[in-house]
Amino acid sequence: MSDIKQQYLKAMGVEVWKQKAPAASTVTAKTAPTVAAKTAPITEAIVAPVAAAVMTNNLVSEISPTAALSWEELEQRARACKLCALHATRTNVVFGVGNRQTEVMLVGEAPGANEDLQGEPFVGRAGMLLNAMLLSIGIERRDVYIANVLKCRPPNNRDPLPSETGACTPYLQQQIALIKPKVLIAVGRVAGQFLLKCDESMGRLRGKISQYRQGDLHIPLFVIYHPAYLLRSPSEKSKAYEDMLRIREFLQKSNSQLMKPVA
Ligand code: SF4
Repeated sequence: MSDIKQQYLKAMGVEVWKQKAPAASTVTAKTAPTVAAKTAPITEAIVAPVAAAVMTNNLVSEISPTAALSWEELEQRARACKLCALHATRTNVVFGVGNRQTEVMLVGEAPGANEDLQGEPFVGRAGMLLNAMLLSIGIERRDVYIANVLKCRPPNNRDPLPSETGACTPYLQQQIALIKPKVLIAVGRVAGQFLLKCDESMGRLRGKISQYRQGDLHIPLFVIYHPAYLLRSPSEKSKAYEDMLRIREFLQKSNSQLMKPVA
């Protein structure tokens, strides 16, 4: 094992991780959906669906998979957004960060205290661990895009309310529509359940390729452990590394430009 790879693993708190051959049931030819998500009606703009979601308290509103707004317009609206009560307690809107032309997009649940203060998703110790997880398969943070389901922090890091996710979802959907990533990575159980519109346990969500559906967009999706959980449960890090290797294998098979050989 090279020095640089050992450094990545050390940063993740893993002494020795050996690459295992992926189980046949996990990676090979598994682009078919494992979790069926319903395709919902499509509307054209972002404002109307947001309002509809708030009025009907839908968990997930749907907007057009075609890019109705530019990045600049979308970010401007999010930064001024007062569609749910979280605007009153936020320090910053955490819109998202990274490469907007990437093939890999990560989605977390919601900003925490550090993210709220800095205005960037996945910072602090959890962010450093996420960076190390990406580096362990040769991907740098700056080469992916990272966003959350909610753009504003729920007080005391409580779970998002349905009314909040309903109001905020169009921003994430529009980000996904603009990027059209080759693969989505849901970071943590809550993000995975939200994107797949299910209530499966983490044990059933991880370790396989699922399918995210948004209008005409069908995007392979992996669910990985949240780094904050791994900091609390370091014994799960070996499984987390196996998940990262599955993602690497998928990207290699997809001829991803993002994959760089791990030295
Ligand atoms: S969480 Fe989303 S919907 Fe609520 S105020 Fe923030 S940006 Fe708007």
